[in-house]
Amino acid sequence: MHRRIFAPGALAAASLLLAVPASAATFAPGAPGIGDPYYPSYGNGGYDVSHYDLRLKYQPKTDELEGTATVLAKTTQDLSSFDLDFLLDVSEVRVNGVKAGFASSGEHELVVTPKTPLPKGTPVTVVVRYSGVPSTKSAYGFTTWHRTPDGAVAADEPESAWWWFPSNDHPSDKATYDVSVAVPDGTQAISNGALTSTSSKLGWTRYTWRQDKPQATYLATLALGRFDITTSTSEGGVPVINAYSKDLGDNDGAARASVERTGELVDWLSGYFGPYPFATAGGYVPNTTTGYALETQTRVYYSPKQFAAGSNTSVVVHELAHQWYGDDVSLKGWKDIWINEGFARYAQWLWSEHEGEGTTRELADYVYASHPADDAFWTVKPGDPGADGQFDLAVYDRGALAIEALRHAVGDDAFFTILKGWPRAHAYGNASVADFQRYAEQISGKPLSSLFDTWLFEPTKPGSPATGASLARSAAQVTQPKSWKKIEATNDVHGH
Ligand SMILES: [Zn+2]
Repeated sequence: MHRRIFAPGALAAASLLLAVPASAATFAPGAPGIGDPYYPSYGNGGYDVSHYDLRLKYQPKTDELEGTATVLAKTTQDLSSFDLDFLLDVSEVRVNGVKAGFASSGEHELVVTPKTPLPKGTPVTVVVRYSGVPSTKSAYGFTTWHRTPDGAVAADEPESAWWWFPSNDHPSDKATYDVSVAVPDGTQAISNGALTSTSSKLGWTRYTWRQDKPQATYLATLALGRFDITTSTSEGGVPVINAYSKDLGDNDGAARASVERTGELVDWLSGYFGPYPFATAGGYVPNTTTGYALETQTRVYYSPKQFAAGSNTSVVVHELAHQWYGDDVSLKGWKDIWINEGFARYAQWLWSEHEGEGTTRELADYVYASHPADDAFWTVKPGDPGADGQFDLAVYDRGALAIEALRHAVGDDAFFTILKGWPRAHAYGNASVADFQRYAEQISGKPLSSLFDTWLFEPTKPGSPATGASLARSAAQVTQPKSWKKIEATNDVHGH
């Protein structure tokens, strides 16, 4: 995926040669959105990014962020101009070494007009110089840049990049990353992947991180603050890097008792999902007041609130399961969110069974009985929940029931083959709910369209996932599994 950087001179010459046969009429602006019906303005048309190189400097006292983003891309149409999604103040843009025109437009668009139009299939190097105070920027009335007493955190879904780097902000355009951030000595900068170097000079320390596998923009994260960084290696050989705010107070012990088990849990999940897909694993816990956790690639974001009631390995299992279901194989469009959340929730059920706190069957029976037929829970279609319903509880819980129903329909052998085979079948790529159904049918040899329709696309309560029969039991008649409270506590999920 990582394309080599062309010398600007050589590239300009190549562009001229390529540009000759194209008629001026074929050059058009790239679309301001990539075409996702849930979020029409998210992402952009006309190019595909392969790599982001971010070289930044951050001052925690003032929340000032400045730096340079170098974006390597390739055009997918003849372009007269193209958009990046971005909110900070831009001072200069260069395209293939040459200064380009730029203007902000809409809620979060940076429109770039290169001096010469770009023919389809051209490698493009875009350099954006910028600065700003991210916490003062908003789009659609919200900000997902979260200030902390000692710095800030960028971690949110479906958008967080706009506040710290210009991007093609949609999961269908994945890229590799180098993120290098200078912070005052005593402050740490945490991002995705491996920490390749740290260096100090004149009161500033620079942290350089590398994500060498494709990563969706919403899975890129940045945390700036006073962190204690721990490193270890799992029994299965996965390097683990975790970071804890030095100001977690009463939540410090429970946070560490949960997140320090990352290596063990990655190895355990590998038994179900296949080899861990990335070079490092880990998580970080900043002293933020937001409530959710997020599967930011290789470096999971955990709110301290997730550990306020004590240690919680269930939430760690959920976010680590996403490393396969969501991060390695990413959704094609935001309506495919069930593949992320249904499977991450089902992994929590498997962990509950492993811990002797309730089997997947017991959890399925409990969830199914908890929601009577007239509960609005059943009106959410996990296979197409709408932008407003994307993180509805039903996407998680009905989503996991759908997986339990699939397991009963195809049998354990085929089910666990599907569970492990899927991440390999679409490694580092994107896939849809329809792709998953086709894959499950291919592995099981069974037609599954009726099961998928019933569980993911009908706005009514289906028959029981185990038997298909309609059960009249209420939650009071079904024993609550021991793990339930901890699983429920992870429900404060994403959103701004
Ligand atoms: Zn999740």
